[in-house]
Amino acid sequence: MMLRSGLGDLRRRLLSSLHSRPASLGEPGPVVSFCFDDFPLTAYTGGGAILKRYGARGTYYVAMGLMNTSNHLGDHFRRQDLDSLLTDGHELACHTYSHISCRAVPFRVFEDDFNRGKDAIRKITGCEPANFSYPFGHVTLTAKKRVGAQVSSSRGIYAGVNAPMTDLNLLRANGLYGDVNRFAAMDALIVRNQKQRGWLIFYTHDVRPNPSEFGCTPELLEQVVSSVLARGCRINPVDQVVRRVRMSSTGPSNL
Ligand SMILES: [Zn+2]
Repeated sequence: MMLRSGLGDLRRRLLSSLHSRPASLGEPGPVVSFCFDDFPLTAYTGGGAILKRYGARGTYYVAMGLMNTSNHLGDHFRRQDLDSLLTDGHELACHTYSHISCRAVPFRVFEDDFNRGKDAIRKITGCEPANFSYPFGHVTLTAKKRVGAQVSSSRGIYAGVNAPMTDLNLLRANGLYGDVNRFAAMDALIVRNQKQRGWLIFYTHDVRPNPSEFGCTPELLEQVVSSVLARGCRINPVDQVVRRVRMSSTGPSNL
């Protein structure tokens, strides 16, 4: 167990430090992004509705192969939901086509699926996805380097605040899971982000009264959104923040 967690730490450190695309956060902070991965329909009907009520928008990292399917996260999105969420001003981003792990297949297979996912979004919605998140949060050095070069940003699931430098090839993101008893921990992150004038990214999946272990209740999401705004932080989709970071960044690039 110790060895396993030691290897996990080593992998995390290597993946965080190599093939990075550092960019200075500059002006944007403190800002918070809310992301929904895969995505189950309740992420839009529940999560999107809450954001909209507060005048905010989110980022939906969609795996197009999940359209019209159901799994432990509930029913997934249908085609019309993609149009609706774009009309609402949310961002559509890429999450591969088949929701595959880059650790489970050769990179060539992963890259094909990544491209298939982007192509499917373009074909169905006419919109060009600029940002990407890794299914299962699995990253490899090859994927970080090669996929990173093809998108505005890539997001993982390593926790923390993106500040003062952000790695556009592996954005940090924090799971927003469970019910209101998780609010204090989430609020501590919001306060930390406010102090660091950083960029805090939350991600979740289903948003419903009895969520899966990878989702949250509408009550928790609403408390977190409300706290972010009460503390004077902006809420922006990933794409808006990335565009500002790229404009203001003078950081070196190893692309
Ligand atoms: Zn996913």
